[in-house]
Amino acid sequence: KLELTTAKKWIALFVEKLENNMAVLNELDTAIGDGDHGTNMKRGAEAITAAFAKKEPETLADLYKTTAFAMIQKVGGASGPLYGTAFLDMSKAEKSDELELGDLLQIGTDGLKRRGQSDVGMKTMIDVWQPVSEAAKNNQLNQKVIDDALAKGKDLVATKGRASYLEEKSKGHIDPGSQSSAYLFESLIEAIG
Ligand code: ADP
Ligand code: MG
Ligand code: MG
Repeated sequence: KLELTTAKKWIALFVEKLENNMAVLNELDTAIGDGDHGTNMKRGAEAITAAFAKKEPETLADLYKTTAFAMIQKVGGASGPLYGTAFLDMSKAEKSDELELGDLLQIGTDGLKRRGQSDVGMKTMIDVWQPVSEAAKNNQLNQKVIDDALAKGKDLVATKGRASYLEEKSKGHIDPGSQSSAYLFESLIEAIG
């Protein structure tokens, strides 16, 4: 179970990574998409910072809801509603339960699947979220889980999102949403410490 201070640190570190890696994410998206994933996520990161400055989240549900709204309102593209749904579902779940971390992340993953009408193996961010959720449920979330998920996704052919237009040519590239999700969970590992 995450403490509020840990979860705040998590999101703050994610914001920082998005701001520092806009170019990396844009480059990945240029190879197999339309080149805007970094710009989209940086806009979201700035919106999260602005929302927290306006009103400091007082509960986990608050923290995830504010994050979700910032993403939905400012990220745009495919990824905004997807991240938004994941965080909104996690926010709702926090209201009703004393959730363990792995169960929380699985609820976020299930939100992505529902919103994206997608599943593992389609070369999307789900290919990072699902194994990370699984590992967290087993108390085994570490950097290797993330690295392995990215490496595995790299070799997949995309069947959802813009990269799917490239068919076989999408193989051998890291999916941009998987990379931003890797930043999200690297931030989580750092926050937990
Ligand atoms: P857009 O493709 O609209 O420009 P972004 O570039 O911001 O949006 O985000 C693209 C990312 O969104 C992809 O790298 C992928 O991880 C994710 N994505 C796209 N479509 C789906 C989907 N149906 N299900 C899950 N993730 C998706
Ligand atoms: Mg894009
Ligand atoms: Mg776009």
